[in-house]
Amino acid sequence: MEQSLVLIKPDGVQRGFIGKIIARFEEAGLKLVALKMVHASQEDVDKHYALTEEWMMGVYTKAKAKTEANGEAFPYPDHKAYGGEIKRGLVEFLKSSPIVAMVVEGEMAVSAIRKLVGATEPASAAPGTIRGDFSHDTYGQSNAQKRPIRNLIHASGTVEEAKNEIGIWFTDTELHKYEHVNDRVQYDPKWFV
Ligand code: ADP
Repeated sequence: MEQSLVLIKPDGVQRGFIGKIIARFEEAGLKLVALKMVHASQEDVDKHYALTEEWMMGVYTKAKAKTEANGEAFPYPDHKAYGGEIKRGLVEFLKSSPIVAMVVEGEMAVSAIRKLVGATEPASAAPGTIRGDFSHDTYGQSNAQKRPIRNLIHASGTVEEAKNEIGIWFTDTELHKYEHVNDRVQYDPKWFV
């Protein structure tokens, strides 16, 4: 069974969406196996958003394509300049107020959660997704104000990333193993026989 790391960022906490966000995962039949409120340290956030070539290229490519598709010029020369700036803003943002960290488990949990979370830019995220329903922020607005886009939530992008991120925010003893009724109803072939 896959596990994914989810963070409700300071905007999600401040806007009172902790309960609603958790409910989306529960309603989808996913199981919470760890949950806590944390005031993130510099070290936590540094580990979480590692400034790798791949990460910088990812944020740069997505934002450049979206900005240019909106008919605006993208003001950064390359992925390193842009990635560095995004990372600096993210570190300050995530440290600015308590966040909620959780580990969510289920069949294909990583991709299922990304589907429920929606696209990075809330204005482009589909309705029905967490970001699409609760935020309308744009790359244009966040770039103009030189701040991270306010998209309420982080969710691991791959199974590998999830393993690494869970280790940053939780110790082994904080990860609970228990049977949830959904384990039987959704996955047990003998449930009703
Ligand atoms: P996601 O959170 O959807 O996986 P990324 O891993 O690409 O997105 O980026 C991490 C976070 O960095 C985003 O959720 C967002 O808060 C911030 N971010 C990424 N790209 C930008 C951008 N171009 N402008 C402002 N903030 C950004």
